Amino acid sequence: MKFSIIATSDIHGHTEHFSQLASMINDRQPELLIDNGDFLQGSHLSYFYENIQRCEHPQISMANALRYDVAVFGNHEFNYPLPAIEAMRNACNFPWIAANIQAFAKDYIIKDIHGIRVAVIGVVTHFTPLWDEGTATKSLHFEQAFDAAQKTVKHVRAHEQVDFVILCYHGGFERDLQTGHLIDLLEGENEGYRMLHEIDGIDLFITGHQHLEIATKINGISVVQPGANAKCFAQIDVTIEGGNINHKPTLVYVDDSLPSFTDAAFDKWKNEMIGESACDLQYSNFFTPRTMQTDYVQLLHDMQMHYTKAQLSVIELPYHQNGGFPKQITRKDVLHNLPRQNRLVKIEMTGAEIREALELSASVFAINTQDEIDFSMNVHYPQPHPFVYDLWGGLDYEICLRHPVGQRVVSCEYNGHEMQDNEIFSVVINSYRATGAHDYAMFHKNPIYETSEFVPKLMMAYIQKNSPIQTQVKNHFRMRK
Ligand SMILES: [Zn+2]
Repeated sequence: MKFSIIATSDIHGHTEHFSQLASMINDRQPELLIDNGDFLQGSHLSYFYENIQRCEHPQISMANALRYDVAVFGNHEFNYPLPAIEAMRNACNFPWIAANIQAFAKDYIIKDIHGIRVAVIGVVTHFTPLWDEGTATKSLHFEQAFDAAQKTVKHVRAHEQVDFVILCYHGGFERDLQTGHLIDLLEGENEGYRMLHEIDGIDLFITGHQHLEIATKINGISVVQPGANAKCFAQIDVTIEGGNINHKPTLVYVDDSLPSFTDAAFDKWKNEMIGESACDLQYSNFFTPRTMQTDYVQLLHDMQMHYTKAQLSVIELPYHQNGGFPKQITRKDVLHNLPRQNRLVKIEMTGAEIREALELSASVFAINTQDEIDFSMNVHYPQPHPFVYDLWGGLDYEICLRHPVGQRVVSCEYNGHEMQDNEIFSVVINSYRATGAHDYAMFHKNPIYETSEFVPKLMMAYIQKNSPIQTQVKNHFRMRK
């Protein structure tokens, strides 16, 4: 007897690719189909459906047509307010589970496949509330993912007469699966390695969140992580012979030549020109806008300060090799460069807190053996290091990477005088960063002002109003070796 299980994870609203995966999944007709979270959030199309079109996301109807059996909550499901999460859940013909969010979701489902009882348990990284800039998680209690997983596996083994147990974890691995070396901080965001080695009774372990592509077997357990953005799915073929259950995991990659989903209204909206630039707002090297003052970054600061009247502005660039705005700017250019759906918040910070934040930012980079600026993580591997780097507007400052971490900000002036520790400044920052995530506790403050609109919409309006865009660098900033 044979059956197959297919798992997707971290699709992030990449519906075009998902439509291709969907036809491949449909051809295979798996007996069990699971999504492991972060299903809709994160794409331009999802932005369009959430903010402009405001009707059911086409990816939900595709998932319903595929007859998914179950989906596991990911952290990004909680980027939406609770009523939106409820609406999504109601639109799905399959249950959403999470054993570590009590009173909100079911712990597991049981499916009978040709007489074989299969349990599918879901847990989500309990770091989820830390990244919540809204209020979705305020009324929910997230139990430690490891504890909830261990308890629930034990429960289904003892009480559900199951033959096959699948643990789905919207979280990843803190250690390399082969070597056991640390690949992340041991803080609990990712604890898949510990789950794999310390929880008895798992047959298949489905992970996600880190967007890795993994299909392997460890100590007889099939372990998968099906990448991200609908690039692939995991297929696990199960064979039962003489009471023995064998299983084999593989990754199946999307066939790009298959016809894919298109949406004429979305295409028209995103490709429409909303303004022009009269100066060079593009960059073609990852490090350029991060190591010197550029017109593009100035434009971002100008926009943030315009809407909030703050003295200082903090921005973080997406991890694109090249970016910025071309001469003719479309909505797509804005969404590509401002991918996060955040609001802007204005907070008050002391000079000492600002200096601390600057030092933390400056620690992200190091000098490699070719004497080039590189990520600390590349230079001091496997020392974990956050990839979180902010650029400040309204300050004149200089960072020297030859100085030890914590002493790299060599000058920091406001209006021509060295910033004093006890000076108070109003600072505009996006609401995600204001959660204090990634060790930036100094940003975790009660906002004195918050925009009601998301950053992409603010930027689009700013471009429309100020076209042709002519920015001028207002402050000195340099990161040197
Ligand atoms: Zn994800």
